[in-house]
Amino acid sequence: MTWKKHLQENITTAAQLREYRVLTVEEEERMDNILAKYPMRVTRYYMSLVDWEHYEDDPIYRLCVPTISENDLSGSFDTSGEGSNTKLPGLQHKYRETVLVLTTHECAMYCRHCFRKRLVGLEDQRETATDPPAVADYINAHPEVSNVLLSGGDAFLLSNDAIRQYLELLVPISHLDFIRFGTRTPVTFPMRVTEDPELLQILHQFSTKKQIYIVTHFNHPREITEQSTQAVRLLREAGIIVRNQTVLMRSVNDDPQTLAQLMRKLTSIGVVPYYIFQCRPVKGVGTQFQVPLPEGYRIVEKARESLNGPAKSFRFVMSHPTGKIEMIGFIPAGSGSTECQMIFKYNQAKSPENLGRVFFQNIDEGQRWLD
Ligand code: SF4
Repeated sequence: MTWKKHLQENITTAAQLREYRVLTVEEEERMDNILAKYPMRVTRYYMSLVDWEHYEDDPIYRLCVPTISENDLSGSFDTSGEGSNTKLPGLQHKYRETVLVLTTHECAMYCRHCFRKRLVGLEDQRETATDPPAVADYINAHPEVSNVLLSGGDAFLLSNDAIRQYLELLVPISHLDFIRFGTRTPVTFPMRVTEDPELLQILHQFSTKKQIYIVTHFNHPREITEQSTQAVRLLREAGIIVRNQTVLMRSVNDDPQTLAQLMRKLTSIGVVPYYIFQCRPVKGVGTQFQVPLPEGYRIVEKARESLNGPAKSFRFVMSHPTGKIEMIGFIPAGSGSTECQMIFKYNQAKSPENLGRVFFQNIDEGQRWLD
């Protein structure tokens, strides 16, 4: 079966969920209302990872099936200022040396915590790049750009021809040091890699000319399976460096043991832990998944205690409109106060004068974002 045929078997409706669990008529109606705004798409493979006997408390279930909390409209749809960084349809240029391309609005699975909920799986494709040569022209005209991240959506939902076209256009640009693909397929749909030798051949062919990275997105140790391990192994054999971004999320990975186990398992299969992200205050996402900043800092630091150097090489950051802000320190609240102090550092900055800047901020124990 080809990967596109696999995707046709995805779970996309509340009625289809009945194959896995009992749903009342009211629950089905509520879910249909949510799905009219934010589509569901779950691969059969990912469904097989859910603990269906205890699905209500299952982290894997939380990541793939909507809940009523998605109707909570507090927050924003664009929490890191993507609109203001868009220079061409689908092309964002926020940090001097990096261009980000939204190559598609499609993913193998629509994750419930997605910060691009405003576009993934929806009809409106105005935010998606439609003209790869125009993307290459922009990068050619900006010699300060040293790398490009092809994302989306999920860049591996592009056809092999489209992936080849991007690589043919971008690999010859001499001021690009490397090219990254943002894809969650090794986690949610490893068959995209393991059952498509042509994709691997394309990646291998171009990786001999320019280093290619995959930035993937494992959030829980149970996502590391025989199939995902095989996808990572094949990518590495094709000359690709695989790095991981995790989002810290309530009732998914918000305890030190789970996080530490995830990082250890990642390093054991050859994936470099890169970032742990503070979950963003996205509408329909923030209220159910965000962990307060001080609590999150303590969880991450506790997880680090049991890890070796490579497994704790990640940074705990938030992707803010002003830049990528790392949380580097914490001074506990004095007695009787609910305010601690946290120390932050601009790891990346929209305004160059902020780059590397360290700052202190009073943070309430329940605060989940920097305003
Ligand atoms: S794969 Fe990535 S872009 Fe797609 S829904 Fe999941 S988190 Fe969002």
